[in-house]
Amino acid sequence: MELQGKGAAPGVAVGRVYVYNKKISIPAERFISAGEEQSHLNRYLSVKEQALEELEKIKVSMSKVDPSKAEIFGAQKEIIEDIIINEEIPAKIKNERWAGDWAIYTVYETVLSVLRKTADSLIAERSSDFEDVRALLLRFWNNETTTGLSDLAEPVIIAAEDLLPSDIGAIGDKKNILAILLEKGGITSHTAIIAKSCGIPAVVCVSQLLEHVKNSQLAAVNADEGKIILDPDNAIVGDYNKKKEIFLNEKKETAAFLKNDGCTACGVKIDIGLNISSADASELGASEYTDSVGVFRTEFIYMGRSTLPTEEEQFLIYKKTLESYGDRPVVLRTLDIGGDKKLESTELPREDNPFLGNRALRFCFSRPDIFKTQIRATLRASVFGNLWLMLPMVGSLDDIRKAKEFITLTKKELKKENKPFKEIKIGIMIEIPAIAYIADLAAKEVDFASIGSNDLIQYLCAADRMNSAVEEYYQSFHPSMLRLIKETIAAFDSAGKPISICGEMGSDPLAIPVLLGLGMRKLSMGSASVAAVKRVLAGLTIVQCEELAAGALQLSTADEIKEFLNNKCSTGHTPRH
Ligand code: PEP
Ligand code: MG
Repeated sequence: MELQGKGAAPGVAVGRVYVYNKKISIPAERFISAGEEQSHLNRYLSVKEQALEELEKIKVSMSKVDPSKAEIFGAQKEIIEDIIINEEIPAKIKNERWAGDWAIYTVYETVLSVLRKTADSLIAERSSDFEDVRALLLRFWNNETTTGLSDLAEPVIIAAEDLLPSDIGAIGDKKNILAILLEKGGITSHTAIIAKSCGIPAVVCVSQLLEHVKNSQLAAVNADEGKIILDPDNAIVGDYNKKKEIFLNEKKETAAFLKNDGCTACGVKIDIGLNISSADASELGASEYTDSVGVFRTEFIYMGRSTLPTEEEQFLIYKKTLESYGDRPVVLRTLDIGGDKKLESTELPREDNPFLGNRALRFCFSRPDIFKTQIRATLRASVFGNLWLMLPMVGSLDDIRKAKEFITLTKKELKKENKPFKEIKIGIMIEIPAIAYIADLAAKEVDFASIGSNDLIQYLCAADRMNSAVEEYYQSFHPSMLRLIKETIAAFDSAGKPISICGEMGSDPLAIPVLLGLGMRKLSMGSASVAAVKRVLAGLTIVQCEELAAGALQLSTADEIKEFLNNKCSTGHTPRH
């Protein structure tokens, strides 16, 4: 029997199914007798503590795999601590004698019903975190301290209605998860994101999965195609095992490129930058395989904590990063908060369109105290390496001039205090079309730029990068995008200033040949993509890339361009489109 779902994390697996059919229990509507209030209250507080501890444990273990994803669990801890929820649940227990589990369920449900109705995709997305947290609390309430998954004795394919991100996070030996099959879930759900980070193939949205699978049943999974075959015959098992071998060999072959230089087949050196969000060893470990830090998303230093990071704390983090790279450039991006990223330490005003609002540099201008602390820390760290400071969300030359003046004033302040700093390069992110269109003018005022394609696409196509309902409108290969990238590169090239790309497009195997053909020579990416990008580069020549780019520029729609590139590119491995 064959089942079809959506591939959420790539890979192939053959193995026995482990049905994990723990449904999220809905407690009965129940009132307690007079005198029982305190014990329910205490139990709620202890369940809360257990959940907080569990999430912290998972956060720490996930940060070794993928620090940026570990933040999911930091955000969930904050939900547990939410002031309103924490007033409401005890109030229901004490004043209305609701049973604790019923109070937890219902109070969260009230918040969830508001979140689910909102048109704001960011807020709607938060609702899955609230559901995860509620399920975790109820699990502890029911004394289910282990999920039954944490002690898997042998490698299995897990089939479930849905899994909490913490279910996967809690599994000690991830090698025992051959694949994950979910009836629910979503491609962009936290569970899928975590499966991908851990290298576990995952298929989600498999309708009626639990009706069809049985414990210990043999299954063959091709997560690239979202396909599951139950009780496969020997021929299919052989075929899938071969596919799995090819997939794993591909992975191994790709990994072998990690140590190489980023270089095309015709010998042109391509600068490989690393995107990081902390100075943790897990991130800086890739420093030996990269030529620079292409972007340090410094906002992650500010997130998941209740106080702002001090100048000293930041100084030490930046110093460590700069020292790890020696003479090689480290691009520190100033605080890019707002949009999808929130600060727990600082109340941000609620905005109807946060991505078009008081975000990044705009926020820093509105909070010079916060901006000053960061600039002081970066300047002080500059003596320890080769610092390039990059400004996010720049929309005009006014923004550039204002920020540069701010930096100059901060330098004067440090000079007065006899605090040493070095001359640094100042650059911008190209992510608002308004600045991309005047890249020639911007190039005269800054030392370098990096194309933030993640945002540039959303602003150019007017399609929210967080809203899966408008996914089809968010087009990396929109002809406008290619033209704009071409002009931006040309503007910086003629000014003799470096230009790179640090958005996702920079590590997309299908986009790389076009980017090279348009003149890009600096790509920056997460550590997980470094080997694959080097492998793609090794299979390309610049002449080929220029021909491809010229051909793509002749076409009129994103689909035409993707089809053209898919047909022409024979990189042969894991294209994303
Ligand atoms: C981008 O917009 O492409 C980028 C690199 O920045 P972020 O994804 O952090 O917004
Ligand atoms: Mg951006």
